[in-house]
Amino acid sequence: MRAYRAKMVESIRLPDREEREAALDAAGHNVFNLDSDAVYVDLLTDSGTGTMSDAQWAAMMQGDEAYAGSGSFTDLEAAASDVLGFDRIVPAHQGRGAENVLYGSLVEPGDVVPNNTHFDTTRAHVVEQGGEPVDCPVEGALDPGASGDFLGNFDVERARAVVDEVGADRVPAVVVTLTNNSAAGQPVSVANVRAVREFCDEIGATFVLDACRFAENAHFVREREPEFADSTVAAVAREQLSYADACIVSAKKDGLANVGGFVGIRDAPAFDDLFERAKQRAILYEGFTTYGGMAGRDLAAVAVGLREAVTDAYITDRVEQVRWLGERLDEAGVPVVRPVGGHAVYVDAGAMCPHLRSEEFPGQAVVCDLYREGGVRGVELGEFAFPGADRPDLVRLAIPRRTYARDHLEHVVETAAAVADHADDLPGYEVVSEPPMAELRHFSADLRPLAPSPGSEE
Ligand SMILES: *Cc1c(COP(=O)(O)O)cnc(C)c1O
Repeated sequence: MRAYRAKMVESIRLPDREEREAALDAAGHNVFNLDSDAVYVDLLTDSGTGTMSDAQWAAMMQGDEAYAGSGSFTDLEAAASDVLGFDRIVPAHQGRGAENVLYGSLVEPGDVVPNNTHFDTTRAHVVEQGGEPVDCPVEGALDPGASGDFLGNFDVERARAVVDEVGADRVPAVVVTLTNNSAAGQPVSVANVRAVREFCDEIGATFVLDACRFAENAHFVREREPEFADSTVAAVAREQLSYADACIVSAKKDGLANVGGFVGIRDAPAFDDLFERAKQRAILYEGFTTYGGMAGRDLAAVAVGLREAVTDAYITDRVEQVRWLGERLDEAGVPVVRPVGGHAVYVDAGAMCPHLRSEEFPGQAVVCDLYREGGVRGVELGEFAFPGADRPDLVRLAIPRRTYARDHLEHVVETAAAVADHADDLPGYEVVSEPPMAELRHFSADLRPLAPSPGSEE
């Protein structure tokens, strides 16, 4: 049940079809290049695109803008301690800033970093440090047809084989991403987190939780892991984080803010050195250790947002809304990855466009057509975003938090159903120009359709 109502509104409009065709052409058929006022329902990402609460806006007015020793930082520290159980934090401007601070302090050239599945910026940061990111998802995690309660889990045996091969001294850290963003937002069980803890003790590695979506994961744990059936989401959130030595948080996700992030580091003598190194690196790249690239008002908003994220009223509504969209799309004949994850519905574009080879980017074909048909912006996560990774060609429809109502999502369902109806006729795409770093290609490459689109002017 919706446990909030609107108090401020933002106008949006659906440009007509001709405008949409022109906008898509001008954007090089890459929806990252579209102006947001040309988008009707924007499901590009749920990162920093949510709606803040009146309590967050009120806290912003009292943000302490002091360069050092900001009271808003003290508030954020207290929230991170209460909500996540991390008493030491290093703030950063967003999650990737936190990744730069942490992985830059942990990873050396030649190191190997196992992760259930590296999120794109995480992969890029490990590579940037000269490390080698290795994905260790469980069987079926990347298979759109698989089913299971915890398809986001980390496969410890797979990681053990990697460690046996390269030697434990080359593995400084093991990362678990919860929920597993790049594996369709599937959750990770607490049992799995405990197993990874034991594995890290065995090989002497630092256990990092990429906790950007800690609240969504906690909701699924409570729903699916019998041990936690009677727990609060807040209690599960703390429990799952309690096993990690360090964590990465993007406040743009379950911090319910528009910007911000931090590294959490365990308050124990074994991590004093890591904490010091992280703080030094943060001063260089992010800002002094009591603001880290955020304004005082941002720190204040995140401090309130973290607490709101683990309230039952918020998180239940959030996950239910995403699930509702998944179910309606499924009923409308749009192939979606089941079970539906925490922050997004993943459309199986490969299944929708069997006439297109992966190299012709069926995901991008669907993304472009969703925009052309209904001004809906999603994002390709397949061969275009992950060149050569041999992953299924998916399109992610990520739902901003507390932002869209059911009629917006009904428009998305109608649009996607129209795309599915003529999916057999969608053209493939080819890359015209791309940036040097392959890991970041989907953010800025230009593409060209290999044939005219159904219903287009050409
Ligand atoms: C979003 C995200 C990040 C990066 O955070 P930004 O705030 O976008 O820089 C890192 N890891 C995961 C799992 C994420 O979802």
